[in-house]
Amino acid sequence: MRFLKANKIFDGRQYLAEGSVLVIDSQNRLKEIARATTLQNDIIESFEGIIVPGFVNAHCHLELSHLNGKIQKHTGIPGFGKQIIMQRMAGGFTKETIHEHALAADAQMWNNGIVAVGDISNADDSFKTKQNSKIKYHTFIEILGLNPANEKMMFDLSLPFFKILQSLGLLGSLAPHAPYSTSFQLIDRIAKFDKEHDLPLCIHNQETEEETKFFLGQANGFKDLYDFLKTDISWFKAPGISSLKSYINTIHEQKTMLVHNTFSTKEDIKAAADKNCFFCFCPNANLYIENKLPDYSLFKEYKTSLCLGTDSLASNNSLDLLDEANVILKNSNAFSLETILQMITFNNASALNLENEFGSLILGKNAGLNLVNFTNNQLQLTQKII
Ligand SMILES: [Zn+2]
Repeated sequence: MRFLKANKIFDGRQYLAEGSVLVIDSQNRLKEIARATTLQNDIIESFEGIIVPGFVNAHCHLELSHLNGKIQKHTGIPGFGKQIIMQRMAGGFTKETIHEHALAADAQMWNNGIVAVGDISNADDSFKTKQNSKIKYHTFIEILGLNPANEKMMFDLSLPFFKILQSLGLLGSLAPHAPYSTSFQLIDRIAKFDKEHDLPLCIHNQETEEETKFFLGQANGFKDLYDFLKTDISWFKAPGISSLKSYINTIHEQKTMLVHNTFSTKEDIKAAADKNCFFCFCPNANLYIENKLPDYSLFKEYKTSLCLGTDSLASNNSLDLLDEANVILKNSNAFSLETILQMITFNNASALNLENEFGSLILGKNAGLNLVNFTNNQLQLTQKII
């Protein structure tokens, strides 16, 4: 049995009362939260800093880890997409190389205090890593298909990957890639599937201004991307409203995470908040690809719906949630430290439907415990306690 206390203990949503002590059993499960005054002083381990539940990474693409340092910065999303496709077409990476990089990325996350991850997969390249990992993954099988005529075919093509996940005992859902790459009809079908199976949904949302232009019918970078792919989209009729507003009604009473939100307006955010959506930020990837951060002040009132993710190593130098938190802390004073800590613990776990296992101090569970330090407005991981 261990008895742990620190300057502060954060439970995933708030700080515990001063003098609280975490009682941890031999299996590293939380047995109870006791008062220091009821315990003998010499059995208590005291830590300098803040004890926080294990971190949950809301958004990653483990299968892109081998592209670390291979993608040019600041090209915008259409340029980024083109580079990813070119790397895939060049086929310069063997399955083994992709697997080795995914494995190293998984170890990196674990060492950075991450215990659970929401991870996008387009294929099964990362499944072996996830199966053998100490980290709990929720995999979003990502589906693309802008042409409504191919809706059923694109949906059916993804189902085998979902079945493989299930056969391996891994958690997963289906997820549309983004509004500029997935038809409204296909998003609707995917949302219905996840709702029927009580699974969380996620979609890349308003990561680039080109997406807004695409939906408003203005000149935009996706035209070049589709030209490059030799895909005729002359049939596409811009709806004349924002991307989010054009698909938000496909989302019903279900957990939905909108990822990035860099170019979301106040009205977009309100429309999504009315549907109880989660808003996930990936600041380092935003700086890498678009060199622009969301206006965090627009999200101030939605603190229980805010998530944080690392995105992939194709658009980031590390898979470290505290690096992401520190970018926000450096660039905005919209959020308190508690809100930032809630983003990387309880909110992320909740958006992934993992809140009964991770993201807070849960009696009878080992949800991980990290010790962090907060100095000069920046967070650092001092140690993984369990
Ligand atoms: Zn992503």
